[in-house]
Amino acid sequence: MGEGTVASTLITHIGELVTNDPRADDLLGVIEQAAIVIEGAHVAWVGRATDAPPADEMVDAGGRAVIPGFVDSHSHLVFAGDRAAEFAARMTGTPYAAGGIRTTVAATRAATDEQLSGHVARLVAEMRRQGTTTVEIKSGYGLTVHDEARSLAVARLFTEETTYLGAHVVPDGTTAEEYVELVTGPMLEAARPHARWIDVFCERGAFDADQARAILTAGAEAGLRGRLHANQLTYGEGVRLAAELGLAAVDHCTYLSDADVDALRDSGTIATLLPGVEFSTKQPYPDARRLLDAGVRVALASDCNPGSCFTSSLPLCIALAVREMGMTPAEAVHAATYRGAQALDRADVGALVPGRRADLVLLDAPSHVHLAYRPGVPLVAATWVGGHPG
Ligand SMILES: [Zn+2]
Repeated sequence: MGEGTVASTLITHIGELVTNDPRADDLLGVIEQAAIVIEGAHVAWVGRATDAPPADEMVDAGGRAVIPGFVDSHSHLVFAGDRAAEFAARMTGTPYAAGGIRTTVAATRAATDEQLSGHVARLVAEMRRQGTTTVEIKSGYGLTVHDEARSLAVARLFTEETTYLGAHVVPDGTTAEEYVELVTGPMLEAARPHARWIDVFCERGAFDADQARAILTAGAEAGLRGRLHANQLTYGEGVRLAAELGLAAVDHCTYLSDADVDALRDSGTIATLLPGVEFSTKQPYPDARRLLDAGVRVALASDCNPGSCFTSSLPLCIALAVREMGMTPAEAVHAATYRGAQALDRADVGALVPGRRADLVLLDAPSHVHLAYRPGVPLVAATWVGGHPG
């Protein structure tokens, strides 16, 4: 070990270690009375504590549980202003509609880059305190060439998982046709250097399936991978389009026909459910049980945004998924970690097995079940990101 650097860290006396090892017999690949060895940024060893190899530094977990860091594959953190008044009105009967996005667009355009990045930094730190170690961040509150590009440049300061969502809503003063031309033309060119993904809000009041197809196709030609918001408020063609195009993920999936469920199962496209949205909009929850029983791969994410769901908490989403959507605690934790990684096409995070990044959460609890069993309680005792406490 050289010059003050710690080459390896042993975390031992872990009461329950969730590995998400896909080769395990149980979904979470749980090891009891476990230990984990971190070398540099990566997991070097996992197993029973009694078998652990020596390391340069030791951390005693005191019998508590360790799980992989949450992978939040869907958020909209680049914005200014808030919509607390809209939320309060909604709770007393005003229905949610996609058009509220325009309120945030005006505030975001008026904000400086520094204001936007300061706000994202605060929310990313808030997520970290709740166990999220990888986050995807979308644009979509700029809706001009300049404001979409700078929103993505701000997002890129915090994550590699940046998503161009110019097609969030048609802004005032333009037609849908004109706007799709812009989104697939000059705006795409400006967004491309800062984005890994492209997304469309495919919903009544936003973009239809033909427009979504055109936008995703243009994005693919520009080298951006596709993902989609679909079937949130009504039945529609979005989920089947995502499956047909072989997208990594299609998000919301609340209103699904049997054909939609079959298409998801056959394509392997991840269905990302966002129960914080239904909680915050008083909409019906998606039926996770139906999807899981059909063999669809299900992820959970926050959809953190100022309008339909202003929570950054994946523990809350896990609790809601268990209480309201028919998921077991194990399925919900798996969906917020391993499946979240798959929804971002990431093989380096989402599991604690040798070779993966040492992104992990020490819970103030003996088991992952407590994430659903103790809703609203801050159970994250510590987080390691890339092998470092953070
Ligand atoms: Zn969203």
